[in-house]
Amino acid sequence: MNHARSHDLFSRACELLPGGVNSPVRAFKSVGGEPFFAERAEGPFLFDVDGNRYIDYVGSWGPMIAGHAHPDVLDAVATTMRNGLSFGVPNALEVTMAETLTRIVPSCEMVRMVNSGTEATLSAIRVARGATGRSRIVKFEGCYHGHGDSFLVKAGSGALTLGLPNSPGVPTALADLTLTLPYNDFEAATELFDKAGSEIAGLIIEPIVGNANCILPRDGYLQHLRELCTRHGALLIFDEVMTGFRVALGGAQERYGVKPDLSTFGKIIGGGMPVGAFGGRRDLMSQVAPSGPIYQAGTLSGNPVAMAAGLATLELVQVDGFHERLEQSTHALCDGLETAAREAGITFHTTRAPGMFGLYFREGPVHGFADAMASDAAMFGRFFQAMLERGVYLAPSAFEAGFMSSAHGEAEITATIEAARGAFAACRG
Ligand SMILES: *Cc1c(COP(=O)(O)O)cnc(C)c1O
Repeated sequence: MNHARSHDLFSRACELLPGGVNSPVRAFKSVGGEPFFAERAEGPFLFDVDGNRYIDYVGSWGPMIAGHAHPDVLDAVATTMRNGLSFGVPNALEVTMAETLTRIVPSCEMVRMVNSGTEATLSAIRVARGATGRSRIVKFEGCYHGHGDSFLVKAGSGALTLGLPNSPGVPTALADLTLTLPYNDFEAATELFDKAGSEIAGLIIEPIVGNANCILPRDGYLQHLRELCTRHGALLIFDEVMTGFRVALGGAQERYGVKPDLSTFGKIIGGGMPVGAFGGRRDLMSQVAPSGPIYQAGTLSGNPVAMAAGLATLELVQVDGFHERLEQSTHALCDGLETAAREAGITFHTTRAPGMFGLYFREGPVHGFADAMASDAAMFGRFFQAMLERGVYLAPSAFEAGFMSSAHGEAEITATIEAARGAFAACRG
């Protein structure tokens, strides 16, 4: 594959952007090589500036659940933008969005739109702290909730990929208020709440961890956390920025039947535009300004064009059988990859939820962060490069979930498995 134009752009970018990128994982640091620059995208495909085509399993890190450049989404954006890009006064699409979100996710009785997942999570813990009058928050090792100060403690995603789970620039006094727990460990959670429960404002979790590869909750684990929070007067916050509208229409909370007090959203809810949202119980959300004293604001929040893209995407995922089909295609891909690995004599394991998956170069099962970390990252790097050469773009990190869209059909899945046969053989040899 020729990458001359991407190489030239990356050289120029490295002079002016830290690491040549505007978000760390894009830099390919953990898999080696250089990132390619996108020219356009369509359905399951990304096309780079050198004319190469890739089957894309990143989907802009989640938003593109209906495939890239879906005509319905583009039409909604085009129609809306003709009326102006931003008004700074309320618009009707914000109301439709609030009605749509609260209908799809019943635990969200009220909602506030923001501009990113990061903004959603940092606003949600402000509400948790403001409403409970407590300061401490609990998060989980390897979970990523955006780059807010309180969350860059044992964080996943790019922080994990680059080996920077605790970031300089976060004051110790603030980091000390963040308590961390190992994911899927029932006992550790019970013990922490027994010790510090009365100081905990909220517990925030990725109900399915998608930022330390892909780790599913053990049976009853999320229920256990629900009970602990209720017993100790702490708020349960589901960070569904990744899982929302993906693993079920109503997200992980629908899939596992657990009702959080607050939820955060991003990615799919913006359909590719910069959008986030937080919502939850009416008594909590009515404490947010201006109906209450907990301050939160945003110049571009509820932006009409962004709402239009999000609403059009939410229409697409509400089509009957959408998530069942997504689950089937995720299984077909993962089963095929496991078979190809077995045939090549490679130790390999996958985890799956509808529309998202984890790839592990180790034996299963994977229940916790330590299990995920034990995957052979060097092997993943070789596999990633071998797949890229064969026109398949996986997440450029051993610690990020992969994403499927409804645009990934049988042909793409078959081609991906075929590419994997070659890639497994290449990275063994
Ligand atoms: C992506 C992500 C975020 C951060 O969202 P941004 O829009 O990148 O700020 C927060 N939480 C989870 C679970 C995410 O996957």
